[in-house]
Amino acid sequence: MLDPNEYLAQALKAQRQARGWSLDQTARETGVSKAMLGQIERGESSPTIATLWKIATGFNVALSEFTDPRGNRIGNELRQAGRLRHQPAADQMLVASLFPYDPAFGFELFELTLLPGYERLSEPHAQGVTEHVIVIRGDMELLIDGNWQRLQEGDAVRFPADGPHGYRNFGQTPAVFHNLIHYCHDREQAR
Ligand code: MN
Repeated sequence: MLDPNEYLAQALKAQRQARGWSLDQTARETGVSKAMLGQIERGESSPTIATLWKIATGFNVALSEFTDPRGNRIGNELRQAGRLRHQPAADQMLVASLFPYDPAFGFELFELTLLPGYERLSEPHAQGVTEHVIVIRGDMELLIDGNWQRLQEGDAVRFPADGPHGYRNFGQTPAVFHNLIHYCHDREQAR
């Protein structure tokens, strides 16, 4: 299997080339410094999930485009969170990409684990992006419409993710949830 940093380096270069973006322009679009982008492209950096999100949002593509090689994604392959779960650099969040983005379905599904004390504010995603949060274990809080909303095991929320939003766990135990992110790249066609 390709090393994640190598895959990320290739994916970033490919996305830049597809748009004809220089490193300078990519820095402007993503809010990630040119120096950091250069390091990533040389495979010298293991960026945090927050940085990866900025890059994905700047390109208006799903996060998994940078983390999961496109393969045969349609099929009966068993996906096991316990095997896929990993902790990106310097982050108190564990990520398991259960179903990477596939244009045929228009969504990606993560299992995310927020360790105690974790808080992250998310940049707005592209217009029309919708998130679904389904709590599997523990308690967490979700920032929607400027308010932190408390969620418990079994709670499910769908919200427009093209505005500011956030996730946090100020409890004593990890909070685990599914996050289904639906990308609607062509709203007219979808209607
Ligand atoms: Mn988000």
